[in-house]
Amino acid sequence: MKLGDLEFWLITDGTFRLDGGAMFGVIPKPMWERVSPPDNRNRILMAMNSLLIRAAAKWILIETGAGDKWDAKRTDIYAFDGPPRLLDKLIVHGASPEKIDIVINTHLHFDHCGWNTRFVNGEAVPTFSNARYIVQRAELEHAKDPSDRDRASYFPENFMPMERSRQWSLLEGDAEVIPGVELIRVPGHNADMMCVRLTGGGKTVFFTADLIPTAAHLPFPWIMGYDLYPLTTLENKKKWIERAAGEGWLLIFGHETKTPCGTLREQKGKYVLEPVLLDA
Ligand SMILES: [Zn+2]
Repeated sequence: MKLGDLEFWLITDGTFRLDGGAMFGVIPKPMWERVSPPDNRNRILMAMNSLLIRAAAKWILIETGAGDKWDAKRTDIYAFDGPPRLLDKLIVHGASPEKIDIVINTHLHFDHCGWNTRFVNGEAVPTFSNARYIVQRAELEHAKDPSDRDRASYFPENFMPMERSRQWSLLEGDAEVIPGVELIRVPGHNADMMCVRLTGGGKTVFFTADLIPTAAHLPFPWIMGYDLYPLTTLENKKKWIERAAGEGWLLIFGHETKTPCGTLREQKGKYVLEPVLLDA
């Protein structure tokens, strides 16, 4: 899809599964299982959506999925699907790991930064050797010293190698990385997650990351049990959903499999998704 001079593609690192109860927080199962049917281990299917952007003669990759540094036990727990995965999909669009100039991680949970690194001779090294990697400084600090509640979401091999290679470019608050690519700190899921807003050609695209992980999470109280600050998520969902609906933005959800993009229409105080198909 084109936004003026900026071009982007929605690509995925495939799918994985997480516990449906944890994904829908206080929402009772009879309600969420209708929209997001669980498997026999109560897990729901989720995509790991990334955006590949070509703008200002640069290649930018937002989110790097779960990567391939997984043992058999965790592959079974999370049900990662097989190839093609993220790196194969870069190549389809004329990019490659070496060509990527900027990698953006909305936050450092394993399903957002897995391909940041890969194993070479048993050692995790940066996959995108020529890129600068961007995250909030406070998120990197937190990832190194998480709480007992969210420790399972952080794997040091996804973020420590770029400290050694000095590839981190750390933000303190919002930033426009290049014209038309804005990173916005949106706390709730954790303290320093970011959403991404793309603008160009009179259009606006808003990548929700884990603020609204799937289309099923559009109703305000449908908030993940994983969120560290659910009331902040609630506030931020209201703020950004109302704005996106009012201004006709295209939303792209971080983990939606079936209808990852769409615009919002207000209907009796609720927001309904009108799915939009992007060109492959
Ligand atoms: Zn996530």
